[in-house]
Amino acid sequence: MASDHYKLIILGAGPAGLTAGLYAARARMDHLLIEKGAEGGQILLTDWIDNYPGFPEGLSGFDLAEKMAAHAKRFDLNSMFGNVLSMDLSGKPLRLELEDSNALTCDSLIICTGAHPRPLNIPGEKELTGKGVSYCATCDAPFYRNQHVAVIGGGNTAVQEASHLTKFADKVTLIHRRDELRATKILQEKAFANPKIEFIWDTTTTAVTGTEGVEGLELLNKNGDKSTLQVEGVFILVGVLPNNEMLPLELLKADSGGFIPTDLETRTAVEGVMAAGDIRSKEVRQVINAAGEGATAVLAAENYLVNLS
Ligand code: NAP
Repeated sequence: MASDHYKLIILGAGPAGLTAGLYAARARMDHLLIEKGAEGGQILLTDWIDNYPGFPEGLSGFDLAEKMAAHAKRFDLNSMFGNVLSMDLSGKPLRLELEDSNALTCDSLIICTGAHPRPLNIPGEKELTGKGVSYCATCDAPFYRNQHVAVIGGGNTAVQEASHLTKFADKVTLIHRRDELRATKILQEKAFANPKIEFIWDTTTTAVTGTEGVEGLELLNKNGDKSTLQVEGVFILVGVLPNNEMLPLELLKADSGGFIPTDLETRTAVEGVMAAGDIRSKEVRQVINAAGEGATAVLAAENYLVNLS
């Protein structure tokens, strides 16, 4: 079994991990960034990013991911694709076990594993995923040209992606469990002004119906009224869950949602281990925060490593 040691390992290549990679590479640290899938993380699920400074016209999530990766690589980022299945953070060095049976060790670790869309866990959802149930409007919107789709959720993702879906679908019905959206006002204004978007308020979705593909939704209003809505697709955009299956949650003192608490310098409960981006326990999940935390985490790792030697 091969074993390699690094002063710093960064786990995950979303905006937090890529920024940490940029800072570590530029600081000429002995580092490795490990990514399981594509570089970019959740911004790859985002059609358009309008609030990342330096890009006044906005840019697609895909383009921002590419630019972030290219930026880190300009400073000789050392990266590999690999799937970390578990880790032992109880002693030193820190040890990561990979799917291919290799193990890597490090003196410091930055966890940037991010989050993924939360399922509703209602009947029909799992069975029809990929057959009309989707968690990514950017990926799947073009399948719904001239059709009627529903979006479930009232946060930034649901409202932003409902607007994006109107570029393809004839009609988008946004279903929210309250009578007020959580999304930021500018996204709300855009959605309210869009004649292709209709809203159903105070309503939860209790089932997705259909056999070969989605045919409709079963709805329950706050007042107890039940109804059905015929749609060809449904986008479930009701928040995120942490990508934490490889983490020792007890040792890291994970919060009740499974996110990792840190101090302001991104240091976790385990010495030498930092967490940055959407995996952190926090209120605000924006690309700009993730990037800032990635930078902070490298500075915290540098400080830790200096005091270690
Ligand atoms: P979010 O802000 O947590 O919103 C989740 C939405 O889903 C809320 O409206 C919530 O309703 C609803 N919801 C949750 N559980 C539900 C359930 N079981 N049934 C029905 N509805 C349910 O999540 P998000 O919109 O995915 O955003 C995640 C993070 O990314 C946030 O921090 C967000 O600000 C950020 N983000 C930012 C941008 C941007 O700045 N442009 C774009 C996308 C995402 P309630 O409102 O009633 O709680």
